[in-house]
Amino acid sequence: MDLIIGAGISGLSYAAATSHDYLIVEAEEQIGGYCKTIYKDGFVWDYSGHFFHFQHPELRDYVMQHISPNEMFTVQKHTQILYKDRHVDFPFQMNIHQLEQQEFIDCLYDLFTIPEGAPSDTFKQMLYAKFGRGIAEKFLIPYNTKLYATDLDRLDVDAMGRFFPYADREQIVRNFRHPEGKSYNATFLYPKQGCIRIVNSVASHVDKDRVSLGERILFVDPVSHTAVTNRHTLHYDRLVSTIPLPKLFDVCNQPYDKEVYTWNKVLVFNLGFDAKGPERTNCWMYIPENKYLFYRVGFYDNIIPQDRMSLYVEIGFAKDQPVGDIDTLLQRTLDDLHIAGIVTDQHLVAEHHVIMDPAYVHITRRSEADKEAKMQLLEQSDIYSIGRYGAWKYCSLEDNMHDAFTLAERLK
Ligand SMILES: Cc1cc2nc3c(=O)[nH]c(=O)nc-3n(C[C@H](O)[C@H](O)[C@H](O)COP(=O)(O)OP(=O)(O)OC[C@H]3O[C@@H](n4cnc5c(N)ncnc54)[C@H](O)[C@@H]3O)c2cc1C
Repeated sequence: MDLIIGAGISGLSYAAATSHDYLIVEAEEQIGGYCKTIYKDGFVWDYSGHFFHFQHPELRDYVMQHISPNEMFTVQKHTQILYKDRHVDFPFQMNIHQLEQQEFIDCLYDLFTIPEGAPSDTFKQMLYAKFGRGIAEKFLIPYNTKLYATDLDRLDVDAMGRFFPYADREQIVRNFRHPEGKSYNATFLYPKQGCIRIVNSVASHVDKDRVSLGERILFVDPVSHTAVTNRHTLHYDRLVSTIPLPKLFDVCNQPYDKEVYTWNKVLVFNLGFDAKGPERTNCWMYIPENKYLFYRVGFYDNIIPQDRMSLYVEIGFAKDQPVGDIDTLLQRTLDDLHIAGIVTDQHLVAEHHVIMDPAYVHITRRSEADKEAKMQLLEQSDIYSIGRYGAWKYCSLEDNMHDAFTLAERLK
């Protein structure tokens, strides 16, 4: 029997594809993990904005098997940066010509005078080496530091993988005259009923009787292939874990260096207002300045057309940083939304918040090497760790499905 820990998209995708007998054990009372959707006072909110760019048509078709096309919006992506009270198209590096003249000259000069052989070993060094001081210090460093809540020198040069919008000098200059679409991935999909609709589509391939909700794995003995939960002791042939990798080490009683595995956590406020706000085109906005609490604000009402403003607001924290009092943070968020001009005379009528912990893992050279070695060792005991947090990586829901299906095929 395959024991699957977690009924997020990874655990469900593995169950949907495996040819073995299986049981999913999920600590919460609901499936979906981070892809849950909240319905409140007529608003539809995810844990945080979850939007989909399928790279593999076969995975999109798999998801769409159980979703009718009129349940899914295809949205033209428009995203901007709130930079010193000015709106600049994202990605910043491609749109420096939209800055005030002196700032544009600074960015352009620095881009063309990057010192030969500038070091590029860390994420921060790479930002300087590829884009020059102006672009790095005006947007890329402050924004990503606010998001990751760590010094970017700690992160691996490839910490964001394919999600980092690279651009070379020629592309940047060409974009002054001929914009290459507003940014990479020009459209995305979003279900009318929110992200959980995609999870439910995958879950329709899973036997409900083999999903145990409200059951938490407490301890795993890799030698005897036994797992202890808050209800049972279970024997397994293979364990497929989708919980965060350091948590898996904990339940397996496997020692690891806690300094190697760090991450940020994100407080998300979902906010519903009584009327539309002034922002009519952006799907979401990036906010690099520290004077604002949040690093990103999304506009659900510009994604699913509706006549009331519906926002998600994301605030980054270091993993051990106390979040503090939620009511105080909500008031400060509302104040900052007013200062930023996102809220004017609209009134808040509904609110939901959630802390995603972990949210973005810190991919470092050490974490990559340690992870590889420890995952190989776990596999020798028939333990496989997958998912965004199980595989300790930066990825999308589609990547989670792909990895889960690949593992099911490998273990056939
Ligand atoms: C801020 C943010 C924005 C994002 N936006 C997007 C986006 O726009 N598009 C996109 O494609 N992806 C996005 N993602 C990524 C996406 O959320 C993840 O890739 C995906 O949800 C990961 O699914 P998973 O199943 O691997 O993990 P999870 O969803 O974390 O599932 C793990 C499950 O394990 C359960 N569990 C934990 N411990 C135990 C235990 N001891 N016993 C039993 N069960 C346990 C949990 O309750 C959970 O249900 C975003 C992520 C974040 C943080």
